Amino acid sequence: MNLSKSKYCNAIQCKKMLWLDTNKSDVKSDMTNESVLDNGVEVGEIARRLFGQYESIPYNEDLNIMIEDTKKALLQDNIVITEASFLYDNNFCSVDILKKTGNEIEIYEVKSSTNLKDIYIEDVSYQTYILLNLGYNIKKVCIAYINSSYERNLELELDKLFTIKDVTDIVFKNQENVKKQIKDINEYMMKTNEPEEKLNINCSTPYECPFFSYCTKDLPKDNIFKLKRIRNKLKFDLYNKDIYTYNDLLNENIDWKVKQQIEFELYDKKPMILKDEIKKFLDNLTYPLYFLDFETYQQPIPQYMGVKPYMQIPFQYSLHYLESENDKLKHKEFLAEANEDPRRKLAEQLVKDIPKNVCTLAYNMGFEKSVIKNLAKLFPDLEEHLMNIHDNIKDLMIPFINRYYYTKEMKGSYSIKYVLPALFPNDPTLNYHNLDLIHNGSEAMNAYANLGKLSKDEQIKVRENLLKYCELDTYAMVKIWLKLKEISNYKLTIENESDEKVLTK
Ligand code: SF4
Repeated sequence: MNLSKSKYCNAIQCKKMLWLDTNKSDVKSDMTNESVLDNGVEVGEIARRLFGQYESIPYNEDLNIMIEDTKKALLQDNIVITEASFLYDNNFCSVDILKKTGNEIEIYEVKSSTNLKDIYIEDVSYQTYILLNLGYNIKKVCIAYINSSYERNLELELDKLFTIKDVTDIVFKNQENVKKQIKDINEYMMKTNEPEEKLNINCSTPYECPFFSYCTKDLPKDNIFKLKRIRNKLKFDLYNKDIYTYNDLLNENIDWKVKQQIEFELYDKKPMILKDEIKKFLDNLTYPLYFLDFETYQQPIPQYMGVKPYMQIPFQYSLHYLESENDKLKHKEFLAEANEDPRRKLAEQLVKDIPKNVCTLAYNMGFEKSVIKNLAKLFPDLEEHLMNIHDNIKDLMIPFINRYYYTKEMKGSYSIKYVLPALFPNDPTLNYHNLDLIHNGSEAMNAYANLGKLSKDEQIKVRENLLKYCELDTYAMVKIWLKLKEISNYKLTIENESDEKVLTK
């Protein structure tokens, strides 16, 4: 078997993953996340600057060319090489950054993550195994990853942006294990019939396995892996005790919300509505009433002052509002220009658009509040107004998180992406699938992050669709609020006389 860093790490997570990838790749789910890939490339390129001058080994489909180029570069005594490539006994690797001083070698693996994962140790252990066996004198093995608490100043300080962890000792201690793993992987890969593997925590750790749908295809439709509110570890523990259907789980000591979800789906229960609780929630809201939703994006490498890696940077908002009960619904919006720090203009516009002391609704308000708090910290002149907006935000998710309103279609979730279709199953104007280009927050984030790379015409089209997407988010909130109002005014409270089960205390 020809192994590489990624194949070795896949096999460390689960050998069957590598077997399926090699022999049955057509059953693999596409889990490619373009923005994660882009982040990885960007972080890798920036990390190289930590080492001053360096020489890159260009990618070539013919790995032998990369290996030969590496040999030539290594003839120099003092050199930093990126993508230095090696082959030992069918095991290939490219080292992210290799530093050679005299005859001593240092290996640096760069990760765009903000924490050190065990699988990274396996990754560098494998690289070290290859280089040691080729006779190189390895003095140091390190993992460079992003320091999440770094806050950018005027200049980017690379030495503070990256945490460099020396893992030499643990990697050297792991060498016998690498040797054994490679032998085991090669034996496993000789199997001609598809191997049996019991599902276990490795199916989701450290990464979601792209073969999970395939490996669970024979489970009953109602299986524990469909449940949202149970931790993965518990799911696999239950599975290994042969508890894997909703029915099996009903006899276990489980969270009441999970039990409720199961009962609703198993017994096809009608919607449950706690009318008095909904009324109490609605009575807390006052006019003028604003509905706010931000779109944000993240930068692994902060480009602006005061930004931390992966911090949520707001670039857009939509705002629906009603001045009074009988007022016509109005709408305002903001979308930043490409390639500029969007925060100041957005904050200035926000304080113009939302007056002080008005009630603002957000869906999952923790997110909107944290965005506003960060803006207030950044712009002291706007702090008072921004914090006034912040302090007057209420959460439209409350009735759903507390299960004042629950239907089987919500599938245990209180996310607006489940709640909305559950409440309005046949309304095409509230269906995100009917939008062009942008259908969810990740697509919005990627679209804005890449906006500056597009032609003028393309930018206009993407901007139009970003605006439509974000507007739908707040329009959906208005519709949900109206639905709650309508329900709380239901006169009918007797089960079976309505399509819905409405409970009053
Ligand atoms: S789903 Fe689990 S058992 Fe199946 S290949 Fe992936 S990690 Fe292995």
